[in-house]
Amino acid sequence: GFNDNPLMPWFGMDIGGTLCKLVYFEPKDITNDELNSENIRRYLTKNSAYGKSGHRDTHLQMNDVSIRDRRGTLHFIRFPTSEMGNFLSLARSKGLTNLGNIVSATGGGAYKFEEDFIKEVNMKLAKYDEFDSLIKGMLFVEASSRTECYYWANPTDDTLCAKVNYDFSNPYPFLLVNIGSGVSVLAVHGPQNYKRVSGTSIGGGTFLGLCCLLTGCNTFEEAIELATGGDNTHVDKLVRDIYGGDYERFGLPGDLVASSFGQMNSRDKRSKVSREDLARATLVTITNNIGSIARMCALQEKIEKVLFIGNFLRVNPISMKLLAYAMDYWSKGTMKALFLEHEGYFGAVGCLLQCNE
Ligand code: ADP
Repeated sequence: GFNDNPLMPWFGMDIGGTLCKLVYFEPKDITNDELNSENIRRYLTKNSAYGKSGHRDTHLQMNDVSIRDRRGTLHFIRFPTSEMGNFLSLARSKGLTNLGNIVSATGGGAYKFEEDFIKEVNMKLAKYDEFDSLIKGMLFVEASSRTECYYWANPTDDTLCAKVNYDFSNPYPFLLVNIGSGVSVLAVHGPQNYKRVSGTSIGGGTFLGLCCLLTGCNTFEEAIELATGGDNTHVDKLVRDIYGGDYERFGLPGDLVASSFGQMNSRDKRSKVSREDLARATLVTITNNIGSIARMCALQEKIEKVLFIGNFLRVNPISMKLLAYAMDYWSKGTMKALFLEHEGYFGAVGCLLQCNE
């Protein structure tokens, strides 16, 4: 670590391609020489919205966690990376410049915005690797909370479908599929023993970008809301659209997508499709593509547990259920899709932990 006894406040920052994630540790007992951070503590914990685009995910707050020899609360904050300029102005106006002058950061933005942090708030970034941070963060959060890891039971049945707690205390090996703007796939065999086995540029950023183009929506929340009310079978070409039913010889059911967006070459079909249908088809296309890459990686690496994380899964049960169903169906029940409650925040948590190592 960069400091044997890092001054409060403790932050971890993950500056990604789309979202900046900020984790803040609020100690239970503040010592006298930490009173300098009292203003920032009050500002962060008394509010849940910061400026125009900063949000604190209060439902994810972790009380009574232990880091080093300190107990306290972890707070989870996010804002669009495109708002970094405004974030730095706000931080400056709240007196963040007067605090300890090193902040630990990961993600591409830790490099891209390094100069701006020095210029705007007189802070040096201590940079950590994003995959080291991701794994450290997820192992810590999982170990601190019994209810972190879960899977979806009966993902295709709306009435029986449910989140079920999963005991992840014996984790290795597992595949970690991080769905952010793009996608990275890691095979993890131990806390320090992992490799990046694959990735794809067709990720959460692709979903949001295509959805904005196709439907005119402007936010991720709006895109998900549209998709929730849509039907992808008005857009995609299914096996039954081609065969008139199942393709029995190779066990392909009629309701399987044979060609994503495959109906949209027809002017007539295009004229009948809704924005909701287009959003749903975009979501299903991107999700199934990621699912199939994850499954091939798991097969190649001989791994059965596949953990999906990243903010693409935020407020997005449609994708989680699709992934859960696809992993189970295509692996004939040998692989399991798992999820974590703090899906997008592990890089930032890992960063905060490393400044205390
Ligand atoms: P990155 O580190 O690349 O920014 P994240 O894990 O933060 O990756 O995920 C970014 C993705 O999460 C976006 O591409 C989008 O699909 C999804 N997302 C979820 N919530 C939001 C939001 N409020 N604004 C923008 N994208 C969001």
